[in-house]
Amino acid sequence: MNIIIFGPPGAGKGTQSKFIVNKYNLFQLSTGDLLRKEIKEKSEIGSKIASIVNAGFLVSDDIVSKLIETTISNKKYNKRIVFDGYPRNIAQAKNLNILLNKYHQKIELVLKLNVSIDTIKKRVSGRSVCSMCGKIYNEFFNPAPINTDCCSGKYLQKRGDDTVEIAVRRFNTYEKETKPIFDFYEKMKLLKEVNGESEINLIYEEISQIIDSIEA
Ligand code: AMP
Repeated sequence: MNIIIFGPPGAGKGTQSKFIVNKYNLFQLSTGDLLRKEIKEKSEIGSKIASIVNAGFLVSDDIVSKLIETTISNKKYNKRIVFDGYPRNIAQAKNLNILLNKYHQKIELVLKLNVSIDTIKKRVSGRSVCSMCGKIYNEFFNPAPINTDCCSGKYLQKRGDDTVEIAVRRFNTYEKETKPIFDFYEKMKLLKEVNGESEINLIYEEISQIIDSIEA
């Protein structure tokens, strides 16, 4: 089964992708990872895209399309890809259909992890790090212990205030850019929305139930 997973930054998309890849023996195709690999290896593509990726802009549809076709055409991954980071716009969504069609495949499920902007803000603003041991806490979801030598008092440090601002900006960009893609998959009756506000294992259960119901 080929699946697409969507979610704003902070929704837990990476964590859930890893769970389902393991459980259902799928292959995670992260376009961000693929592009970073090209840059690291200083390939021809890598040197073309380094400045674009580093500045946070989108790489040309052509380049990304060629990269994903290598995976889609590989028999090893036939009908078992989890697309993470692709499609990013409606042209890519249409291109994905064409590419999959060429290799006699299709998308069977589009998962959308829903998390409110308030939760994202809390996840970011409640976060603190122990400067002694590096453990990460969250005053709303996972508070640090009180009166210990290590993870309390002056050792518990917050990141700069602008982190929330950046998170909000990225969230808004995500909402704006992905809306037309959701409409596209909604029309194809492939879109399933998942409550990304609940606990990690509950989200995983909900996703598993959806996948099982499609596979049955
Ligand atoms: P990500 O790891 O998904 O956040 O992607 C990191 C960066 O890779 C993005 O900021 C873009 O520069 C590039 N990128 C990833 N996926 C795509 C895509 N589908 N289309 C264009 N650029 C992409």
